[in-house]
Amino acid sequence: MSTSNGSNMITCRGVVCWGPGEAPKVEEIEVETPRSGEVRVKMLFASLCHTDVLCCKGFPAPVFPRVLGHEGVGEIESIGEGVSQLKVGDVVIPTYLGECKKCNNCRSGRTNICQTYPLQAFTGLMPDGTSRMSIAGAGGPLKLYHFLSCSTWSQYTVVDANYVVKIDSRLPLPHASFLSCGFTTGFGATWKEAKVEEGSTVAVFGLGAVGLGAVEGARVHGAAQIIGIDINESKREKGEAFGMTHCINPKGAGNKSISEMVKELTDGLGVDYSFECTGVPDLVNEALEATKVGVGQMIMLGAGTQKSLAINFVSLLGCRTFKYSVFGGVKVQSDLPVMIDKCINKEIKKLDQLLTHEVQLKDINRAFRLLKEPDCVKVLIRL
Ligand SMILES: [Zn+2]
Ligand SMILES: [Zn+2]
Repeated sequence: MSTSNGSNMITCRGVVCWGPGEAPKVEEIEVETPRSGEVRVKMLFASLCHTDVLCCKGFPAPVFPRVLGHEGVGEIESIGEGVSQLKVGDVVIPTYLGECKKCNNCRSGRTNICQTYPLQAFTGLMPDGTSRMSIAGAGGPLKLYHFLSCSTWSQYTVVDANYVVKIDSRLPLPHASFLSCGFTTGFGATWKEAKVEEGSTVAVFGLGAVGLGAVEGARVHGAAQIIGIDINESKREKGEAFGMTHCINPKGAGNKSISEMVKELTDGLGVDYSFECTGVPDLVNEALEATKVGVGQMIMLGAGTQKSLAINFVSLLGCRTFKYSVFGGVKVQSDLPVMIDKCINKEIKKLDQLLTHEVQLKDINRAFRLLKEPDCVKVLIRL
């Protein structure tokens, strides 16, 4: 990478997806100097989440060419005017949610979706409607879109300072990367959304990083029964290491539905809380039906490329609650540092066991292939 004179533009390597369905490519890109209220981050570690796979297909908005990545940790390289809460050298996580602590939503104590700094998912641009990244094109520099206000798969990225969280660098940085989306989403859903209590029963659909976060959260909050569901048999051992008490593999279960099998394990009642971590429409209905009538809550955490899904009306008639959650209800400024503390003091124990594979940025396509391996949970990307 190099810094050109005057403009302080940085030339570095970043992962670009050029169009829906195209394989990402490592390109030489230009990253501008941060403007007022922004910071430029030198990324140190990043990781791969299923939402990146969806992004390559045009989720949640088909804006291309786009610099990928929304999990990662880095160090502030430079700051724009008016940024007082952060300084050069701070170790940070770029986030896709902000928290102003002043708007109605922030003050409500009921949600992590801030009205001032909402999810930056749809424009692929900075909050002011412009981009800080470009690539040399035949007719001059070509604008690159950002992803989820982060674009962490670039050696440098510019982020609005309201979408950056300073973290305690005692936490190993690869683990910090895993906390920037998937694992926190699952853990947070048990902690902030469902508020799982001692002795309760829980079902977790899908034992990837999000699901293992939900298993860990259920364990930490004292759930008596934690039922993990996955078609991949090699996830059983991982789930048990995190605290899963029962495992359902729907493959080879004959004609029984998953919700029937969950009810068999819970005296016919179903669970208090289920966490849907796959985004597969059929499983959303099973996750809902697997909860207790009247009091059961299904928290959906997965995403998919389908625009809509049909919800079974009979399951809803059981007066169950269906809630969607982004980032597990975790507030980025108030709650994420608390979670990092829980990791440092080992209340959250097995974060290191999420790491199964590691690649260099140049081998990003191998990371996508590894994600399909049965034993893969997290692929760490070294910048
Ligand atoms: Zn707010
Ligand atoms: Zn993610």
